[in-house]
Amino acid sequence: MKNIVVTGATGRTGSLVVKKLRQRQNTFEVVGLARSQEKVEALFNSTEGFIFGDIREPDTLKDALVGCQGLVILTSAIPRPKGDTKPGERPELGFPMGEMPEQIDYYGQKHQIDAAKSAGVEHIVLVGSMGGTDPNHFLNTIGEGKILIWKRKAEEYLINSGINYTIIRAGGLIDEPGDRELLVGKNDQFLNNPPDGIKTVVPRADVAEVVVQALLEPEARNKAFDLISKGEDGSGATQNFTRLFAQTTPGL
Ligand code: NAP
Repeated sequence: MKNIVVTGATGRTGSLVVKKLRQRQNTFEVVGLARSQEKVEALFNSTEGFIFGDIREPDTLKDALVGCQGLVILTSAIPRPKGDTKPGERPELGFPMGEMPEQIDYYGQKHQIDAAKSAGVEHIVLVGSMGGTDPNHFLNTIGEGKILIWKRKAEEYLINSGINYTIIRAGGLIDEPGDRELLVGKNDQFLNNPPDGIKTVVPRADVAEVVVQALLEPEARNKAFDLISKGEDGSGATQNFTRLFAQTTPGL
């Protein structure tokens, strides 16, 4: 039995990971970390199996990780529309005060990694985003937040922490059914040279499955990779995750 903490457990991918891990009750004991009791109740009908904390406040993370073997980091700064938008206009996006990517995606992740190290956690699975090699990527321009730059700095911090890591840099997340054929790469190769006829997207359900498999498969340890999926062309779901992880490599 592995004790796993999932942060960002009320998030769109984090909540799927909690549900998937709970389905494997003979293998995993899962605790979700969230900041909103209301959201947990709305998503899970109960707060059982959850603890409440804020990744900006290291003291709220310590107890959660004691006795855990694995940590799944699924927290992220969330861009929101700034002010009112006229009909037909695209909203200007920014980050709420105190929730800039530097605070959430760098220091917030760092606090989680530090707490995990102090608690003796063996393995951290971190979900990040493709695009981090390009300072001019449009996500970096939102609210002058440089979100992908800060996410990448946190990935580097994790790699240097000495804890076993799996870093999954997802392509554009979509809320379509999972079970697609998955493709792994590195260094934004899919963004720079998209494979013919394939969009650089991946269903959140498939990202959640890759997180679960990464906790199970030794081949996923100390690897960082980009992740996209093939379309629904009938090519079939990825079944062999050992083979998928064998195509991935260590280091940033
Ligand atoms: P999401 O729904 O935006 O969830 C983010 C989670 O972080 C939420 O549960 C949020 O809590 C939590 N959080 C934020 N600040 C926190 C704080 N101070 N303390 C505790 N929790 C905090 O995530 P997602 O869209 O599933 O994305 C998952 C990951 O994939 C993210 O790292 C994202 O950047 C990355 N990604 C996204 C895309 C995309 O297309 N959107 C593409 C590639 C990669 P609340 O629920 O309370 O707000």
